[in-house]
Amino acid sequence: MRNWKKISFFTALAIVVLLSGLMYIFNISISIPSSDIEFSPGKAFSKVHPEYPDKKPKNIIFFIADGMGFGHLSLALQTQQLESKTSVWQEFDVKGWHDARSVYGPLTDSEASATAMATGVSTNFGHIGIDKDQNPLQNIFEVASSNNYSTGIVTDSYIWDGTPAAFAAHIRNEDDARSILTQIANSEIDLLFGELEDVGEDGVPEVNETIEILQKRFQLMDKSLKLPDGAKSSDPVAAIFKEDEIQDLNSSPNLLQLTNTALRFMSLQDRPFVLLVESEEMDAASHENDSKRVLKGLKSIQETLALILNFSKQNGETLVVFTSDHETGGLVPVADFDNYPKMQVKWSTKVHTAAVVPLFAMGPGAEYFANVHRNSEIGIGLKKLVLTDDSAD
Ligand SMILES: [Zn+2]
Repeated sequence: MRNWKKISFFTALAIVVLLSGLMYIFNISISIPSSDIEFSPGKAFSKVHPEYPDKKPKNIIFFIADGMGFGHLSLALQTQQLESKTSVWQEFDVKGWHDARSVYGPLTDSEASATAMATGVSTNFGHIGIDKDQNPLQNIFEVASSNNYSTGIVTDSYIWDGTPAAFAAHIRNEDDARSILTQIANSEIDLLFGELEDVGEDGVPEVNETIEILQKRFQLMDKSLKLPDGAKSSDPVAAIFKEDEIQDLNSSPNLLQLTNTALRFMSLQDRPFVLLVESEEMDAASHENDSKRVLKGLKSIQETLALILNFSKQNGETLVVFTSDHETGGLVPVADFDNYPKMQVKWSTKVHTAAVVPLFAMGPGAEYFANVHRNSEIGIGLKKLVLTDDSAD
């Protein structure tokens, strides 16, 4: 080795030893995760106005499982006991996906995504029933009510939460509970089942005031869920429950019982109906990376879906659309090969992800959703399906 090469070699060696020493002393570690690839998301990639079907359903049940992605679905399929019965997930005629993006990009929140699905227009974070420039957007319930449909909301979350609110209100501030409740009471909605939350805190009215607001439109039902009969059987009804009272199938009431009561109410009316059923459990549990709560929430969703699909099959005129507003948690079931077949739930974040989400449909009009790959297209389709031929453009 020539002298200068020797000097460079020993200098480099000295630097490496010195750096290693410093890293050891100051406890610095360098890791280069191979998965951290940055990418620039594309914009539009699907046709925006797919054909909508000639055969229209009489009724529509729209189920939103807030925060549920394909990882959650995989977990549902892998933990479900399928020996004796068909999985609800296999019963859908159409099984696809959609990109739940907001106008901001691939990420979204419940307000923006539910608004896109309720109105057919993409909007920004925190925007309820309004476009990105704050203009009010007509939602599917408003179109349906003007065409003599009954409309209803069942949620295991609070009644003024982003998802239900997008079907009833037009507001920029998702925390303004009083205004959202007032707009719900001023809407044409015929049924409202859900919880209260943060009662008495910033902008959230006390229970008495909430009841006062809701009684302007709804007859309030108690926990027995007994529907009013006689002359009052067609008047709008609401049932409100305490914070976190409706969780999984062990709760009383639970999403299954509330949906069952809602379907009975809707069936008693001499009108077509649009019913929104929402489960918040996947989102709430996934923000906490709470795998046990996810499993309980999946059971509640599956049992409720089984009831809904049964109703659709027996009724023959009811379209069921199941989807999610976004994925939360980056959940994925993984296997530890040393302990196989034991599986584990892994999480990649505590916030919303840009993963595409399931979009399933069954019943008359289901085929429309096979060509739908954006949340706003769901809204466009749903609104078209409740337009009468006279009111169609
Ligand atoms: Zn969330």
